[in-house]
Amino acid sequence: MERDGWEGGRLLINLAAIAENYARLCARVGSAECGAAVKANAYGLGLKNVGQTLYEAGCRTFFVAHLAEGAALRPLIGQDSRIFVLHGPPPGTANACLTHHLVPVLNSLQQVQEWQTLAHAQGRPLAAALQVDSGMSRFGLTEAEVDYLATQPQALAGIQVALVMSHLGCADTPDHPLNHQQLATFITLKNRLPAAPASLAASSGIFLGPDWHFDLVRPGAALYGIAPTAGQPNPLRATIRLQARVIQTRQVPAGACVGYGAAFTAQHQTPIALLGIGYGDGFPRRLGQRGFVICPDWPDIKLPIIGRISMDSLAVDLTPLLAAGAPPPPTGAVFDLIGPHMPLDEVAHLADTIGYELLTDLGTRYHRLHYDPRKG
Ligand SMILES: *Cc1c(COP(=O)(O)O)cnc(C)c1O
Repeated sequence: MERDGWEGGRLLINLAAIAENYARLCARVGSAECGAAVKANAYGLGLKNVGQTLYEAGCRTFFVAHLAEGAALRPLIGQDSRIFVLHGPPPGTANACLTHHLVPVLNSLQQVQEWQTLAHAQGRPLAAALQVDSGMSRFGLTEAEVDYLATQPQALAGIQVALVMSHLGCADTPDHPLNHQQLATFITLKNRLPAAPASLAASSGIFLGPDWHFDLVRPGAALYGIAPTAGQPNPLRATIRLQARVIQTRQVPAGACVGYGAAFTAQHQTPIALLGIGYGDGFPRRLGQRGFVICPDWPDIKLPIIGRISMDSLAVDLTPLLAAGAPPPPTGAVFDLIGPHMPLDEVAHLADTIGYELLTDLGTRYHRLHYDPRKG
């Protein structure tokens, strides 16, 4: 793999691993269809490459949050695919869904009415998903609104219900009572609506078991390698590797401090390396004094991040590496900040966040390299 032509940080995105995760999730859900959530630029990994990889892997149902995300995805994948817009169209924009061949998720009576108005104007039924709120109080129709739609014969006229869906609030915690409550509520609500394919589970919900699968599942995080169940081994493959180069090494004398705020003071002479990556790249500032980096040739040795993380750089203590007998890393040497020996979820945990936030924060400043070992 080429090692030249980039400075600062580099984000390697393994498209074959994403395709394999898609296949693993398909196998896990058996006869249910496996869709893919590609909102937020495919969780920061690149809508085009990721969308096309999933389409090639057989995915035909995609979920984005915004209409504009759907419009961006539409020309990138085959026309035999469906793109659901999770937030539904903002007021007055329903028409754009037709223009871009997107299916809105209708979350409120207002959205239902706007879609109906458009259907009447078009003189034909229009496909949409209906989202019901099964207990996390985020998007979706309330029980009372579902009852209204169920009892007013004209309330859904003109709408072809392509999907009835809801979303789980605690699926990464299998023992949480809300999982069964939401399942029961979802079944009750969907049975009051016109018969249609149903979808409840995202990544974590898939691993709650077949009762949660219904006709279609909507994983995002698991496709990108985030562990679906808290505290359990991750059944998915890692898909990214974040690397940074050594800009400079130096010996910090005993008593000298390192970085902003003098947050680290060397107790004894300390060899350090400055890496060209910082919070301006989306690497969490929270990892100052708490995170680690890995020298790929010495994968078992964790090098502590010392001092505060700067906008464009961070400092690591090389002592453990040199103590193990490694040669001092030269300028330009490449270290892993996220990778096979420093998993995404572990880095996120050290930064007091979740893999989702860490992934979507990884900025566009990195040199991004999508690669596919299947294609050489
Ligand atoms: C983001 C999202 C998903 C995907 O969730 P993951 O936890 O990343 O699998 C599925 N459905 C809805 C409604 C979402 O908002």
